[in-house]
Amino acid sequence: MKARPHRHPHKQQAMSALTSRLRGQARKITGPRQAILEILRVHPHPLTSREIFASLPKSLCDLATIYRAMHLLEEMGMVKRFDFGDGAARFELVREGDNGHHHHLVCTKCSEVVEIDECFPAEIEKRIAARNKFKAVSHKLEFFGICPECQ
Ligand SMILES: [Zn+2]
Ligand SMILES: [Zn+2]
Ligand SMILES: [Zn+2]
Repeated sequence: MKARPHRHPHKQQAMSALTSRLRGQARKITGPRQAILEILRVHPHPLTSREIFASLPKSLCDLATIYRAMHLLEEMGMVKRFDFGDGAARFELVREGDNGHHHHLVCTKCSEVVEIDECFPAEIEKRIAARNKFKAVSHKLEFFGICPECQ
């Protein structure tokens, strides 16, 4: 048992800090940003800025506004950015009390996305951290394959 006793309290602290940050910055969530969050709320998979733009009423804002809004919302911790290796950043809503950490399985033919709940055992990150004398090791990871429809 090498579990560090301070690990758990730190995790909880980060979570409540996030919650209060969201509350504190709620006033910044106006107009297009609110509409973007609503699009992401009803959409189960990560969306590109272009896809978000296409889902909004044309009169609401331009694409540049969406890019700026996504950057701001990411800084605020309200959306999480995913990279599927095609050069387009994708965004998902981070739900309250959740750090948004999860993975995707992406079809390389039709771009279908499946949400993946599984993750590495925490021991792997601990081992990588210990062996390389790193702290706060995390990971990003997406899976790729060919979906049943495309096989
Ligand atoms: Zn497919
Ligand atoms: Zn996801
Ligand atoms: Zn993971």
